[in-house]
Amino acid sequence: MNGESKTQPEYEFVVVGSGAGGGTVAARLAESGRKVLLLEAGGDPRGLSGGDPHCPNENRLPDDYDVPVFHGFSTENDAIKWDFFVRHYSDNQAQQRDPKFCSSWQDQPVDGVFYPRAGALGGCTAHNAMILVYPHNADWKYLATLTGDTSWDPRNMRKYFEKLESCRNRFFPYRWLSKLGMNPTRHGWNGWLRIEKSIPDAALADHNVEKLLYYSAIGALKEIGHKFKNWSWTLEGQLDPNDWRLVKDNAVGICYTPLTTRGHQRAATRERLLETAQKFPDRLTIELNALATKILFSESNRVIGLEYLSGERLYRPHVGAPKRAGEKKQALASKEVILAGGAFNTPQLLMLSGIGPKSQLEAHDIRVRVNLPGVGKNLQDRYEVGVINRMREDWTVLSGAQFAKGDRIYKQWAAKRRQGVYTSNGAVLGVITRSTLQRPLPDLFCFALVGLFKGYFPEYSKLFAEHLNYLTWAVLKGHTNNRAGEVVLRSSDPQDAPAINFHYFQEGSDNAGEDLDSVVAGVKFVRRMSTKLREEGLIVQEELPGDNIQTDNDLKEFVRDHAWGHHASCTCPIGRPEEGGVLTTDFRVHGTSGLRVVDASVFPRIPGLFIVSAVYMIAEKAAEVIHAAYP
Ligand SMILES: Cc1cc2nc3c(=O)[nH]c(=O)nc-3n(C[C@H](O)[C@H](O)[C@H](O)COP(=O)(O)OP(=O)(O)OC[C@H]3O[C@@H](n4cnc5c(N)ncnc54)[C@H](O)[C@@H]3O)c2cc1C
Repeated sequence: MNGESKTQPEYEFVVVGSGAGGGTVAARLAESGRKVLLLEAGGDPRGLSGGDPHCPNENRLPDDYDVPVFHGFSTENDAIKWDFFVRHYSDNQAQQRDPKFCSSWQDQPVDGVFYPRAGALGGCTAHNAMILVYPHNADWKYLATLTGDTSWDPRNMRKYFEKLESCRNRFFPYRWLSKLGMNPTRHGWNGWLRIEKSIPDAALADHNVEKLLYYSAIGALKEIGHKFKNWSWTLEGQLDPNDWRLVKDNAVGICYTPLTTRGHQRAATRERLLETAQKFPDRLTIELNALATKILFSESNRVIGLEYLSGERLYRPHVGAPKRAGEKKQALASKEVILAGGAFNTPQLLMLSGIGPKSQLEAHDIRVRVNLPGVGKNLQDRYEVGVINRMREDWTVLSGAQFAKGDRIYKQWAAKRRQGVYTSNGAVLGVITRSTLQRPLPDLFCFALVGLFKGYFPEYSKLFAEHLNYLTWAVLKGHTNNRAGEVVLRSSDPQDAPAINFHYFQEGSDNAGEDLDSVVAGVKFVRRMSTKLREEGLIVQEELPGDNIQTDNDLKEFVRDHAWGHHASCTCPIGRPEEGGVLTTDFRVHGTSGLRVVDASVFPRIPGLFIVSAVYMIAEKAAEVIHAAYP
């Protein structure tokens, strides 16, 4: 070890990060009887005080965490947010055409587009939009083929979903049938992650929302084709995109957005961890405010633990964090260290510890332990844009909404039987489709938000509260082809953020330009779905892209200048090292022993349309594989 210790490790496993990957794997290992220490750089979002841009001088926690419709505020709550500023382009001109580009923020120089992350117990599950949509089976098949490991087979992978899910969005007759051993939906009924549906009655009572749903549904059914199949999917799946029968068919069509809430209150790995620690206090220890800074090795090069800094707000992306070093500590693991800091932080920690591209490590005077060129490369994300429509009048369903404790709708949410639009994340309808019939898989998820959402920039979340008369169609492009993004070290200081560049579109690896064409196709698609609302005068103006942006070339330019993403992944992919791989099929870091990665970094290709379902699933799989490795 760098600085040998005679101390006997107290824990079998030390896990870094409590998000979708780390929280899931740590809790399951502890439940399986293992002794686990979890290090989390942030604090408990329900125990902290913090304001947000809507009410900067008030403590908005725990509501920002709890209330589904407040999820935008949670991404900007100053107690839990980590503000990354990422580049979409190296080219300065291309980058600065994005109106979201910032060169400074809060009197500090920054250089990029705001990319929110949560540095808190629960990781990004503490601030995400809670949408849980199952990945495509082809994503798992790809991994099975790549690795030759049949445990990635889609049928087998579904069992991890069944294990973690507590389905509350489908009841009659499936819940009861499952008790008789029949489970055609292959939902999980007794797992730890509750999935709920929230299209509040109040929303359906809003005449304009009703019209939006009606016209969009008719428009989507007409556009998407597969008429007969579509009806049978609708009847079978009841608009639930996670029904196994629809998943098997790569179904397209309209759906609702299932949410990870419990009684319409956010609940994910934070709750999972705290409940597990309460049940097995001798097996799971959670140390908050612990920023892992370096992996520790034995003299024989085996990973034996971690060095970390103890203290609040030690990572510089935590804006407003005081400049202090924290107290240096060590945590030892008798069996393994598991990294789950997410797609930006896991490669950073590997590189800081001497595992990564040799030239980069040497440039920062870091001793090279394993020259692994793939670390931090292959960064992927979705492309997302918003088609923003101003409505003639405020949505009735939002009438009285101040997005604050005690307002009329808040009271409905806070009542014993939670109701009202605050139970939702603002999305009233989703449509899954292919951007062109040539795409092998459905690659667009378009969802209608009753709110104004132009993407992420500092204080973007204020817009939700300031405008009650907007319809945003968010167009999300899945299965992107660009694999040219990268996370590189800015310095060897673990308190600094790494430099992140996604190399969008023309700078990326999608030479055929399919990604750009698909997003443009998505914009045109949602425009067509809005035609009736425009004809009836409910939409008074399309503000973005705007009526003057019509030709394909103009739309392409709009997309290049405005697109964003929030499913960063794939920076430590499973695969052979000579092909840029970082991990073995069982999550071990090549060239090391006693070290694995279990988070959104592990995918060679970004899965599905939403990512968090796949992260939960690989983490359940990892827990099984790791537990089985130590009989
Ligand atoms: C605004 C937003 C909305 C989103 N909405 C959705 C959605 O609706 N549906 C969906 O499918 N996906 C969504 N996502 C994406 C999804 O939430 C993430 O991809 C997922 O949580 C990633 O899981 P992870 O385990 O890789 O990392 P994270 O969940 O980010 O967890 C990483 C954790 O590690 C901790 N950490 C990092 N470095 C260190 C260190 N050195 N020491 C100690 N701790 C450390 C961090 O504090 C964090 O808690 C959203 C993401 C964002 C940003």
